[in-house]
Amino acid sequence: MRNDLTKLVQAINFAAKKHSRQKRKGADGEPYINHPLEVLNLLANVGKIEDCNVLIAAVLHDTIEDTETTEEEIREFFGADVCGMVLEVTDDKTLPKATRKQLQIEHSPHLTNGAKYIKLADKISNIRDVTNNPPDGWSKERRREYIEWGEKVIAGLRGVNESLENHFDELIETAKRKIG
Ligand code: NDP
Ligand code: ZN
Repeated sequence: MRNDLTKLVQAINFAAKKHSRQKRKGADGEPYINHPLEVLNLLANVGKIEDCNVLIAAVLHDTIEDTETTEEEIREFFGADVCGMVLEVTDDKTLPKATRKQLQIEHSPHLTNGAKYIKLADKISNIRDVTNNPPDGWSKERRREYIEWGEKVIAGLRGVNESLENHFDELIETAKRKIG
């Protein structure tokens, strides 16, 4: 227990350093680390996830994709299980954006359960931001397209966590009501 907690705190500290110079795309420019922390909070308190490696991978989920963090670093510090889940939710940035978006839809049914929980919480966090604090310059149409794409990704992984899925569905209703 203490060991798990220590490792989780190390992961939070690691992610905070890696994302330290990044901000979210929203107009109020929140620190980027708020997003992985929101994903962690959703998994722990909505999804009631107790597997510490899933919680650690959630905190680290955007480090490889969005910072200079390597796969080897994650494996060395946090182990192969955590590293595997982070890689499952990491897009290959050498591919064109449209391909990456399509691959997320195609891959979501084949993810491990841990990666599915992280994907659910990640989409909840991003769709909440697209609804309440959207990236600068995004039209309503672009926001709608993002939400519809998120729904397609989540459609492929349902049946793993009722609380997170209900939370996602309620958020989609709110988002559609607000954005139209
Ligand atoms: P992006 O991938 O460029 O941006 C969304 C990603 O940015 C999120 O998944 C999230 O990823 C991160 N992010 C950081 N800050 C925020 C924030 N405040 N709110 C939400 N996300 C944030 O977007 P897409 O390319 O997916 O564009 C959405 C849709 O719009 C697509 O379906 C695309 O086809 C369409 N599009 C429309 C255009 C138009 O002008 N009509 C132009 C281009 C695309 P993370 O979890 O990694 O932080
Ligand atoms: Zn994310």
